[in-house]
Amino acid sequence: MLQMPAEDFQERLHVISDTKAGLSGIIAIHSTVLGPAAGGCRLWHYASQEECSIDAIRLARGMSYKNALAGLPFGGGKAVLHRPEGDFDRTAFFHAFGRAIAELEGRYITAEDVGTNVADMRAVRERTRFVAGLDNQEGLAGGDPSPWTALGVFESMKAAASELLGLELREATVAIQGVGNVGVRLCQMLAGAGARLVVADIVESRARALAERLGATQVSVEDLPDVDAHIYAPCALGAVLNDSTIPRLKAQLVCGGANNQLESARHGEMLQQGGIIYAPDYVVNAGGIINVAAEYLGETTSQVATRVQEIAPRLITILRDAQTRQMSSNLVADDLARKVIAGAQMANV
Ligand code: NAD
Repeated sequence: MLQMPAEDFQERLHVISDTKAGLSGIIAIHSTVLGPAAGGCRLWHYASQEECSIDAIRLARGMSYKNALAGLPFGGGKAVLHRPEGDFDRTAFFHAFGRAIAELEGRYITAEDVGTNVADMRAVRERTRFVAGLDNQEGLAGGDPSPWTALGVFESMKAAASELLGLELREATVAIQGVGNVGVRLCQMLAGAGARLVVADIVESRARALAERLGATQVSVEDLPDVDAHIYAPCALGAVLNDSTIPRLKAQLVCGGANNQLESARHGEMLQQGGIIYAPDYVVNAGGIINVAAEYLGETTSQVATRVQEIAPRLITILRDAQTRQMSSNLVADDLARKVIAGAQMANV
């Protein structure tokens, strides 16, 4: 394993590789001030190692802030792995990943993210104990974190729409980008609340099947930002709020499960200047890591439920603070998270 220091990084980037198993990727550890770095494992196609590293660094930083604001005793990290071309031996692949985690001796704890699932985490568990997102036992936290992520996003969207826009979900049209683990569950909750849904996914058959099941409208991924919706919910990959999409948005509120929705911090200001309320991604999508953390600590599902219910009120405080200070909500959230981490650092000295 090769280690290299990275700019804008408090800790380390670990480049991992196991040629026999087809494994190559990065484990990024952004901060361990609050505890071991916890964050999921993404398996995706990347054009280059640089693209993979940038994603890992951005995601790890987001995890530090997410864990800090959710009040969890964990720092931030993320694993980003190149998806091998074609068929591959998934068990051997995740065994190799498990060995790489074991080498870090508990400084990084993994779980699911885009492209990985509970079975993958089971394979990781066969090589290291520093993993969560495994099958849960009766009453105890565990299992697929995405239902908790979706619930936190749903409650946040409902509260922000109602309290800041005077809009109830039964009156709202919501455009959802990406209907994977989080997006599907969010759509189900929104449909249950009487919202009209417009969905898009790069896997068009997936969006079509969901649209048929829930009576939603399906559009292409390219057309989604132009849809006449009250709320835009990014639930796919990052950097979807950028120079080309923001001017096209009709929505008054952006609230979704995807990590790193803003291409850069200035896009938060662009949204603010355009009068669009932005629910900072790592504030509202903390439900999954809350479940992962509770599983790791041996806590119960009711403790998870209590913490997930705290997400929406936290978001409202941040959004109101942003309005009062005339600042973009992402910067208000970043400030708050950095204060939590700095406070712990001082206490540790
Ligand atoms: P997933 O892999 O199950 O689903 C992602 C979906 O997005 C897939 O259906 C994929 O086809 C689609 N997609 C990819 N690129 C797209 C694009 N450009 N346009 C439209 N659709 C696209 O992943 P997930 O677990 O649902 O996670 C979704 C997002 O939420 C990710 O950004 C992830 O990091 C974030 N997140 C997930 C969790 C969790 O608990 N799973 C927790 C926090 C944050």
